[in-house]
Amino acid sequence: MEKKETRSIRTLKGVGEQRAAKYAKLGIETVEDLLHHYPRSYEDWSVLTPLAEAVSDTVCCIQAEAMSAPAAHYIRKGMTLYQFMAVDGAAKMKVTIFNNRFAADRIRAGHNYLFYGKVTVRGRTREMSSPEIQPAEMGASIRPVYPQTEGLSSRMIETAVRQAFYVWEDGLSDPLPEALRQEYALCHLRYAIRNVHFPKSHETLAVARRRLVFEELLVLQLGMAMLRSRGRNGQAPKLNVDKSKEFFSMLPFAPTDAQRRAVSEAVEDMRTGIPMSRLLQGDVGSGKTAVAAALCHTAAANGWQSALMAPTGILAEQHYQSLRELLEPAGVRVALLTGSTTAAQKRDILEQLKEGTIQLAVGTHALLQESVVFQNLGLVITDEQHRFGVEQRAALASKGQNTHVYVMSATPIPRTLALMIYGDLDISVLDELPPGRKPVATYAIDSKKRMRALGFVKKHLDEGYQAYIVCPLVEEGEGDLKAAQQYARSLEQGPLRDYQIGLVHGRMKPSEKDKVMADFSSGKVQLLVSTTVIEVGVNVPNAVIMVVENAERFGLSQLHQLRGRVGRGNVQSHCILISDAQNEQAKRRMWIMSHLSDGFQIAEEDLKLRGPGDFFGQRQHGLPALKIADMASDMAVLREAQEAAHAILKDDPNLEASQYEGLRREVEGLFAQVGEQGLN
Ligand code: ADP
Ligand code: MG
Repeated sequence: MEKKETRSIRTLKGVGEQRAAKYAKLGIETVEDLLHHYPRSYEDWSVLTPLAEAVSDTVCCIQAEAMSAPAAHYIRKGMTLYQFMAVDGAAKMKVTIFNNRFAADRIRAGHNYLFYGKVTVRGRTREMSSPEIQPAEMGASIRPVYPQTEGLSSRMIETAVRQAFYVWEDGLSDPLPEALRQEYALCHLRYAIRNVHFPKSHETLAVARRRLVFEELLVLQLGMAMLRSRGRNGQAPKLNVDKSKEFFSMLPFAPTDAQRRAVSEAVEDMRTGIPMSRLLQGDVGSGKTAVAAALCHTAAANGWQSALMAPTGILAEQHYQSLRELLEPAGVRVALLTGSTTAAQKRDILEQLKEGTIQLAVGTHALLQESVVFQNLGLVITDEQHRFGVEQRAALASKGQNTHVYVMSATPIPRTLALMIYGDLDISVLDELPPGRKPVATYAIDSKKRMRALGFVKKHLDEGYQAYIVCPLVEEGEGDLKAAQQYARSLEQGPLRDYQIGLVHGRMKPSEKDKVMADFSSGKVQLLVSTTVIEVGVNVPNAVIMVVENAERFGLSQLHQLRGRVGRGNVQSHCILISDAQNEQAKRRMWIMSHLSDGFQIAEEDLKLRGPGDFFGQRQHGLPALKIADMASDMAVLREAQEAAHAILKDDPNLEASQYEGLRREVEGLFAQVGEQGLN
């Protein structure tokens, strides 16, 4: 179906300008869009409950005969009740319709109706208030419930969909090639659309749904794979020497098995001559930096340069420090390039990168500038990848020829989602923390106990340790939210006046921020008050206590990231979450944080609490919202769709064959919707 040919929703009867505007709010402009607007859930009118057996306060569908026409009871202005009795065998119930004269007028004495709604049973009287009613001749069925908007009820949408289907059914051509449908036992699009809206039975609904889920996931997989493979099918530099063992033996600590495994997986990739695309997933503190260092070291041993890009100046600085410590003894020269690098330094660094005398460039987006030219860039690493778009990663990679790409993520994602989001990226997991780590003891308290918490902080500072206090905002304004600036000031003047307090927040100049961070790293600053700028990557093992103010303002993953700033040494660390929030979600989050420490488990809980739509939403990962697939339950279909995507692209990498025309259009539509920037 050509998009241009698709008909406007206005061609449907009953859809004028006003209603069309309401449909537009739901993202529906054409008849085709409408057919792809799937029900959110279903009402099961196909199972009839005998009235005598109806359980109080449960929703059911009852067939009964109206004993009389409804009687109107005028209650007050704007409120009229219409009531009548309906009978099913020996059982009777009172039916009440509120204010809907139109619905009441359709009820005729002696006729049979289906009533769908909640029955209340009190002794021998049964009642239904505002049930949905339809003539029994219409037949019992499974009825769709649509996501709705104001002024557009699910029933209105249902009527429109029926009409749309009736006039447009033949226009539905199937983007899935026949052979593929056969291979995966998928029904035709027409059947799927009809049965997803108006299923004949639960079985036909399942068949329809599976097919639509498959298509949605297939298109997503194809799209992401194609985006990634752009310009990456050439020959990548082939790794000949593996120096990782030597490197490990130089480390001040013994690498964990997980670190060894991750390094050797990447080394194997780089031996093949095909550009590596690998994601390293590792919980906070699992030691991703050492893995990156090992890879850069081996890259240098093979005569390649590497680049490591981090999302913030603070983080780049931190990486620079730790990588230099790890790599310079091994003869690898490291440089830092950020927004605060001076012009003179920069000139020098650029010169040396071009000549190849610096083997590793660590930096922020500054690395992407055109003036940054490498002599022989072989490996590109990005840290905390969800902050970068695919474009930026590609821009960095394009500074070499078919460079190897390694992405490190500290946001643990449930396996299902990882598969979905990273599609064809190979994944390594650091599922082990360095030995001796103790889980951070975490407590949720209310603000009445704040002074005690600060006393606890003080005690640690007196013992020579450092601490973080995290506040949600920079300046005061929104009610009681603890703003970092004022907060730092009040501590300085009050309970913590004898200690060195530093402040960092997102509105500071990078150079100011870097200075405070450096002072915190060196121990000059004992207590760091900050906003979430410290969320990612900061590594000060001597900081063993963290207080989070207004903890309810943070999501689970964010709290987990924050908490990961402590517990980085062998000392028992503590995290105190202060919150007065009373809502269930917030309380549940506090509970989870105080009871779980594993990032993957927390991510699973996060997924449960927020639901896949939100977790997986555009904001988080830059992916299009899924219409029908559900991360929790469609894992099996996802695997099939992935397998199919691989097979298709192997056969036809650009979807040029005529049988893939429909799929290609959908993939293009997906790119248009997401924008390339957002796709990770
Ligand atoms: P993340 O995965 O969060 O980036 P880092 O790479 O910053 O973690 O490592 C956290 C801390 O653990 C660092 O201080 C690092 O030196 C240390 N570390 C890493 N690997 C090991 C190991 N195998 N044994 C002991 N300490 C380690
Ligand atoms: Mg890190």
